[in-house]
Amino acid sequence: MSQSLIKNIGLLVTNDSSLGKTELGLIENAALLIEHGKVTWVGASESAPTAEKTIDAAGKAVIPGFVDSHNHLIFAKDRAQEFSARMKGESYTAGGIATTVAATRQASDDDLLANATRLVHEGLHSGTTTVEIKSGYGLTVKDEIRSLHIAKQLTEETTFLGAHVVPSEYKGKADEYVDLICEQMITQVKPYAKWIDVFCDKGAFTTDQARKILKAGVAAGLKPRLHANQLAQGDGIALGVELGAASVDHISHFNNGDIELLKKSKTVATFLPGAEFSTRSNYPDARRMMEAGITVAIASDCNPGSSYTTNMGFVIALAVRDMFFTPEQALWSATKGGALALERDDVGHLSVGARADFVILKESSYIHLAYRPGVNLVDEVWQHGKRI
Ligand SMILES: [Zn+2]
Repeated sequence: MSQSLIKNIGLLVTNDSSLGKTELGLIENAALLIEHGKVTWVGASESAPTAEKTIDAAGKAVIPGFVDSHNHLIFAKDRAQEFSARMKGESYTAGGIATTVAATRQASDDDLLANATRLVHEGLHSGTTTVEIKSGYGLTVKDEIRSLHIAKQLTEETTFLGAHVVPSEYKGKADEYVDLICEQMITQVKPYAKWIDVFCDKGAFTTDQARKILKAGVAAGLKPRLHANQLAQGDGIALGVELGAASVDHISHFNNGDIELLKKSKTVATFLPGAEFSTRSNYPDARRMMEAGITVAIASDCNPGSSYTTNMGFVIALAVRDMFFTPEQALWSATKGGALALERDDVGHLSVGARADFVILKESSYIHLAYRPGVNLVDEVWQHGKRI
C-alpha cells in the first residue's frame, strides 16, 4: 500500500509558516496525503483528495516526528549507581565516562548493537523518527571503528566522537591521544561517519586540542559539531562559530559575546535539558538565545551517565518548565530545530516533499506534551510513510 490519507486532524503542525498560522504552520481540521513515503498533499480536511487508504485522526493533533540530534547510544552497561550517588549529593564530572568506556571495550558487537537498537526503538515509539548517534565510548582505533559501524546500521546521522575524554591509558599524555585521533582514527572511521564532534570543556579537551581535531576531521570530509560549555564557560561556542559547526551542543554556560557570535552565524544552539535534569545542574536561560534570533534545537542527549532518556516529550516538558521555552518554541526546536542542527531539509516538517515522518498524539494539541509530563501521549508513529 503506497497511498494513505490522514484526515480529520484536529490540529496539524507543519513547521511551514507558508502553509498555516505562526512559525509552526498550524492548520486546523487538516489532512495529509502520503505517497511512497513522502508528503504529497497538505491542506483542509474537507478538500482532501481521495486515497487508497484513509485513516481518521478523529480530531487529534499531528506533529512532525522528533529529530533527536544528540545521542550517545553505543555503550555497554549503565551507571545507575553513579546517578544514585549524585542524587545523594555528589557532583557530575567528565570522569564518569571512563566507566562506560571500560564496559564498552569488553562488550561484543552483538551486545552493543542490541543495546543501541533497543534505545532507538524506545525513542521511535515515543515519536523520534530521526536520531543522531555518536561514538565515543571506545577510544581506541578498533573500538571507535566498530562503534560507528554499529551506529551506521541504525542511522545515517553518525558522529565520530573519539575526543569524548582522554582515555586512562593516555593519562597525562592528552596531546599524544589527540595525535592518534588526527593521524589514525579519522581516516579509518570516515566510511562510517558523517560528523566529527569534540567534548570541548573543563576536564575534557581544550579549545586548541578541539580546533586541531575538528580541522583534521573537516580536512578528511567530516562535518563539524561540538560539545561546548556544559561544565564551565569557555571558548567552545566561539570555536564552533569559527569552524562553521552545524551545532554547538549543551551550552549550559554562555555570555553576551557568545550570543553575538551565534547571531552572526548559521550555527544552531542545541540545548540538552535532560543533562541538567540528571546532573541536577542549573538550567541555562535558552530564551535569551531565542530572543536574539538564534536558531535553537533541543535533543535528549541519551547516554548512560548524564541523561539516560530517549523521550523527546519529556525533553520538551523540561525545556518549557525550566529553560523558559514556550510550548511552541520547544516543539519547533525538537523537530525543525533538530533537523537544522543536522543540516537536513527533508525531516522536521510536514510540507509537500518532506519525508512522511509524523506522530498522531492522543490529545488535541501539542501543548499537552509539556502540560502532561511523563504521560505517553503517542497514539501512532509513522516513519517513511509507514505506521510503525
Ligand atoms: Zn553529548
